[in-house]
Order: sequence, then C-alpha cells, then structure tokens
Amino acid sequence: MTATFQDPMFQDEDRAREALEAVRWPDGPICPHCGSSDPDKLAKVEGTKKSHRPGLYYCNDCKGQFTVTVGTVFERSKVPLTKWWMAAHMMNSGKNGVSAHEIHRSIGVTYKTAWFMMHRLREAMTDLKPGPMGTLGGAVQADETYHLNTSKRAKGYKKGLKNKASIFALVDENTGTVRTFHIDKTATAERIQEILFHER
Ligand SMILES: [Zn+2]
Repeated sequence: MTATFQDPMFQDEDRAREALEAVRWPDGPICPHCGSSDPDKLAKVEGTKKSHRPGLYYCNDCKGQFTVTVGTVFERSKVPLTKWWMAAHMMNSGKNGVSAHEIHRSIGVTYKTAWFMMHRLREAMTDLKPGPMGTLGGAVQADETYHLNTSKRAKGYKKGLKNKASIFALVDENTGTVRTFHIDKTATAERIQEILFHER
C-alpha cells in the first residue's frame, strides 16, 4: 500500500490541530475542565509570545487553559497529530485493512507505536456500534436520550429539537458501569467519536 498524504492536515501540525478541533468541537470549543461551551467565556489565547502553545484557549468560567487535545489520548501519546491523521487515513482507505507494520513504515513511528495508534483509533471507530467491546468481552450498549432545556423551552417550543440537550450513555453489560456524557445537540457520529477518543 502506497499512502499519499497530500492534505495539509498530514503535513502541518497547526492544520492537523484545526482538523481535530473541527471534529471535536463542531459547535465551538468546550472547556474540558468545567464543560463550559459559552463562546463569550472561552477566549483563544493569541500568540503574542512565541512561548504560547498554539491552539491554546482560556476559560473565564474556571480560569483554566486548554487545547483540543487535553484529556485525550493525543495529549499523552507524544505522537504528532499529523501522524494520527495519517494512521486514521490509512485505516479508513485500505480496502483490505492495513497492518501495523504498514503504518509503522509509512508514517515513521515504531511498530509498537503504530500498533498502539491502530488500537486506539479502531476502538474509537468500532465503539460507535454496539458490540463486544466491554471490559470482560461483554457488550457495551450505547444509547442517547434527550432532555429539553427548560429555560430555552420557555422562550418557545418552535425550535423544537434544536433545543434538546443530548445525553449519551455507555453501559458495560458485564460490570453494569454506566458512563454518561452531555452533548449540546443531536449526537452526531463525530460527537460520539469525540467522546470515545477521551480517556475512559
Ligand atoms: Zn472551564
């Protein structure tokens, strides 16, 4: 398999970060520390000094700082985002699947790292469907429910479903563990994927 990586997201770490922001934050940034998504409270820290981390945000609600990778496997892995995108691209475009060895050779990471990346990416992708992904080999049920925001409902019913907040739940059938996540709007595949990229 010959992989070609023409898109800037595979070349430039800033473009790769912006691509991840688009996937994780389709409705604008969300503070990973306090959950604030108020655009008036979240300010991009513009790089007046070169020491500023690119993509850094400041949250006026909790006075914390964050980037799009905070709290995700990308933050811990030390692998550049460009390479995560390359690996994801190879996994999505290979007709018969791609091996860790091919990723290792194509994107220039160790075999062990390629295996780790594939594992985490595949987990994030396949967890979107109910399947045998539980801690003990049992199923994980994924479900979502909707709660109308009463303050918004008071302003009018007409917006209907647009006002709903979504709660996405993962239930491990063996342990009974339930994890719930609030989502601003309808749980798109991208938003659910974003949740699954988080450390669990
Ligand atoms: Zn915050």
